[in-house]
Amino acid sequence: MTNFAETRSLFYLPKGMIYLDGNSLGPLPRAATARVGNVMQDQWGEMLITGWNKAAWFSQPQTIGDRIGQLVGAEPGSIIVGDTLSIKVYQALGAALAMNPDRKVILSDNGNFPTDLYMAEGLIESLDRGLELRTPAPEAIEAAIDSSVAVLMLTEVDYRTGRRHDMQALTAKAHAHGVITVWDLAHSAGAVPVDLAGCGADFACGCTYKYLNGGPGAPAFVYVAPRHADTARPVLSGWLGHSAPFDFDLNYSAHAGVSRMRVGTPPVLQMASLQAALDIWDTVDIKDVHAQSMLLSERLIAAVAKACPQLQLASPSEPKQRGSQVSFHFEHGYQAMQALISRGVIGDFRAPDIMRFGLTPLYISEADVEAAAAHIATVINERLWDKPEFARRGAVT
Ligand SMILES: *Cc1c(COP(=O)(O)O)cnc(C)c1O
Repeated sequence: MTNFAETRSLFYLPKGMIYLDGNSLGPLPRAATARVGNVMQDQWGEMLITGWNKAAWFSQPQTIGDRIGQLVGAEPGSIIVGDTLSIKVYQALGAALAMNPDRKVILSDNGNFPTDLYMAEGLIESLDRGLELRTPAPEAIEAAIDSSVAVLMLTEVDYRTGRRHDMQALTAKAHAHGVITVWDLAHSAGAVPVDLAGCGADFACGCTYKYLNGGPGAPAFVYVAPRHADTARPVLSGWLGHSAPFDFDLNYSAHAGVSRMRVGTPPVLQMASLQAALDIWDTVDIKDVHAQSMLLSERLIAAVAKACPQLQLASPSEPKQRGSQVSFHFEHGYQAMQALISRGVIGDFRAPDIMRFGLTPLYISEADVEAAAAHIATVINERLWDKPEFARRGAVT
């Protein structure tokens, strides 16, 4: 069994704060500070350009990819790290579309995170071959899979409600109709067990600054099933995805395997903090993390239902159908969340009326959840949110 008191001690958490927003940005692993400092001084400072070989900066996108692969059930050598998730969505979708050149439909859902849909729109415009993006409701996805669809592009766990798609069943149905799949694991990696190889997924991608705790701006990852990896089109044909980048050929030829999905120079400092975070992940079993997150979320749901029925559960009530977050509809959700933040309970708000709480067992305890629920009850029942200062909005909500 994973020892969560132990994992909690490995994170820096500000005093007096209950941090229920690890689904947006994970907290600082204590070891990351020294790790990044050492990479700056001992590697960047001392080694300068030789760090690419001596400190293995160059191969880190693969080695880190393999470490992430263990958390999402990927075959060794099938994940590469780099860029941002938006970029990796673009590449995965572009490569998937190239495998179904005679079909015109990209199927996603209207609960998907907007950047994934925006990237699809941009790609449709660039390719200019009459592609169409369909976004039915998440519940209507299964029925919408047919042999007109080129690519099924879904985010497994809905960023607003935490609703979880059945990756295994949807991938199987997609394949039965000749549809290529792209799974976005932004809210899955480090939150729920994922079995990419077992599902037979074609492409997947995700980010490392949410549940994985790699730090703000930590690079994304992309998965290409080994059966596609030597033929997939990289779409963004950058020099580090070339078969021989240091030959400086004038023409592009894709690297063997998933390395072709590299684009340019990887973020070395950010990979250092990510590695410190992955050291913690090496010590835990994702099944324990998921079991504990279901326990924490059931606690929060029960406490809120009892103390403030004005908050309506926006997440599925069946724990197995959720990711690692719980969301509630509340008409004054923005103000209520600001009031909670002023009391040290950090969740976030998603338009139009969703109050969202991430439950991350690596550093959130049952006592934290109970204390947070008590604050929620006070803020709602005493209408503490109803103050002008809580209605003001910053650039980032
Ligand atoms: C968080 C998130 C992103 C963020 O993309 P970036 O390029 O890293 O800013 C993209 N897609 C989904 C589904 C997300 O949840």
